[in-house]
Amino acid sequence: MTTPASVPGPATVLVFLDPEFENGRIVDASKPQLLATDQGATRGDGVFESLLAVGGRPRKLQAHLNRLAGSARLLELDIPAEAAWRRAIGTAISEYRGQTGPAAGETGDEAAADELVVKLLVTRGVEGEGRPTCWVQASVPGGAGRRQRETGIDVLLLDRGYDSEVGERAPWLLLGAKTLSYAVNMASLRYAHHQGADDVIFTSADGRVLEGPTSTVLLAHLETSDDGEGGVRTVRRLITPQLDSGILPGTSQGALFTAAKAAGWELGYGPLEPKDLLDADAVWLISSIRLLAPVNHIDGKEIGTPELRKQLTAELNALYATIG
Ligand code: PLP
Repeated sequence: MTTPASVPGPATVLVFLDPEFENGRIVDASKPQLLATDQGATRGDGVFESLLAVGGRPRKLQAHLNRLAGSARLLELDIPAEAAWRRAIGTAISEYRGQTGPAAGETGDEAAADELVVKLLVTRGVEGEGRPTCWVQASVPGGAGRRQRETGIDVLLLDRGYDSEVGERAPWLLLGAKTLSYAVNMASLRYAHHQGADDVIFTSADGRVLEGPTSTVLLAHLETSDDGEGGVRTVRRLITPQLDSGILPGTSQGALFTAAKAAGWELGYGPLEPKDLLDADAVWLISSIRLLAPVNHIDGKEIGTPELRKQLTAELNALYATIG
């Protein structure tokens, strides 16, 4: 006799921030909840965050709230106070878990480790009303990201078309903000998929390494030298592109750098060129939901060796697991 399939959880839980509901207003995600005139829909005008909750606990919540506030400032959006976001996030997570028990993941495997994607969304609201629309969305992460943590990814370098100093010269491009206008980022991923690759690293018009469409670039260099006493000394260096090159400051990279420094890694911030990636001992794309995805190939060229990638990924995963 076959065991009945477990009852599928709700696809999504939505909680709107609403001054009349202290802990947020839970709505039916299968029904329309936004006005078609909302500028999030008509212009992609707004900001967001995606964070991971594990076992019902959001990770790096303060860093995400800080970045949400920073993005909102850049877009001149007046968003609710942090405490209101925290309460709505709590409501969304407990509502999801209350309906389903621990999140089982798209594939139904317990290895999903009870993970939920929690998105914080802000739009400029309905034209003329001068009030942003804000909500929290909780859902189960797709299986692909979790698999890529294990299998690694093949990446294409794609030109973003801007030079690395444009962020300062043209702040209206909002390059340091996590805006809702991700159509270009998603188009670059589709382009990569059509070429048989999994992901993208953007480069600038002046030849610098920037970021992935949904992730931060990280590379490791190991330098071995004589320790003067007949042994060898290995310096381990973790490097990411410099933050003022028109990229989004990654909360995962930031947290991992703090943990890696405490564990004796040296840290570095670009400028990086594509050849630095190709010469690295390992390269990762790191982000809050997929976490560390080791890069196997860039434009068809293998990065490091499978053994080294595996060893360094395991080491950094162990460090990342210590992050709150
Ligand atoms: N860069 C971009 C463009 C992103 O969209 C993201 C995350 O979605 C990141 C970097 C990584 O940020 P975090 O580590 O905070 O998830």
